[in-house]
Amino acid sequence: MDCNRVSPGPILKDFLIRNPHQYYQIMTFKIGMQIGMLKGSYEQALDQFNILQQQFSFSSAELQLESSIYNAYFVPEKHRVPKVEILGVHLPFMGLDPVSDEPHKRKNSLETIYHSIRAAADCGSTYVVFHARTQRSGSLTSAWMPVLADLAEKSGELGMRFCLENADDLYDTAQIHTILHELPGISLCLDIGHLYEHTFNPLTRYFPLFYDSRLTMALENLHDHIACIHIHNHDGFYAHRMLKEGKIDFAPVNKLRSMEIPLILESDYRDVSLNTISQDIRYLKELIV
Ligand SMILES: [Zn+2]
Ligand SMILES: [Zn+2]
Repeated sequence: MDCNRVSPGPILKDFLIRNPHQYYQIMTFKIGMQIGMLKGSYEQALDQFNILQQQFSFSSAELQLESSIYNAYFVPEKHRVPKVEILGVHLPFMGLDPVSDEPHKRKNSLETIYHSIRAAADCGSTYVVFHARTQRSGSLTSAWMPVLADLAEKSGELGMRFCLENADDLYDTAQIHTILHELPGISLCLDIGHLYEHTFNPLTRYFPLFYDSRLTMALENLHDHIACIHIHNHDGFYAHRMLKEGKIDFAPVNKLRSMEIPLILESDYRDVSLNTISQDIRYLKELIV
């Protein structure tokens, strides 16, 4: 008997009797990477992912359908997607505005997103991430609500979970909480780096974060809605920094390590070596053991 193991509760015990090899699997996050944050063309990025997957046994991955990441409009063939347990797709968002005042712009944006949702289903995705962006200003909860409901329904019809990301024009966690309560069919992709996007003013960006509780608060308040996590650091100026190079203390995430959800590394690795990426992944693994 391994004394380091925590004794499982009755539900887990029952599960283990039926699935004896899954003990470690169910005790951990499904760690994976955002393919769009790896270097080069999609093919090159996939090759790097495959090398890292052999080293670190990733069980999830997320594709990026944003056309500014891969120049040509990008929909991978089913045989050219990462071979993982859980595949997700980040939907395109740049230049789109599904809540625009202009009907033409709104319609075109929605059509692009519908198309991407179908592409996600075609390549075997089990969830999609929606990143909200608009030219309009102010609190637009009531404008976003029907759009989100529609996109979630379309994703659900194709067997995929629809995850709203706290980013860009829907970054405010109180606003997100309202939306998630109104629309129970929608899940949250908690982006830890973007939680800190509006934290730093011209002065505080130079200082460390003292006694910051926003990650703990977000995890506590939004826990029941979280279906996947994006993890990257923020250095006071920019998000998507490597995990070791920023001001966020990721320690609170450790409390969720028994969740069976994708934990997607979303640091910008497009300009670093595989060795540097490996160091960041090791750092992440130390954070959540
Ligand atoms: Zn995003
Ligand atoms: Zn993200």
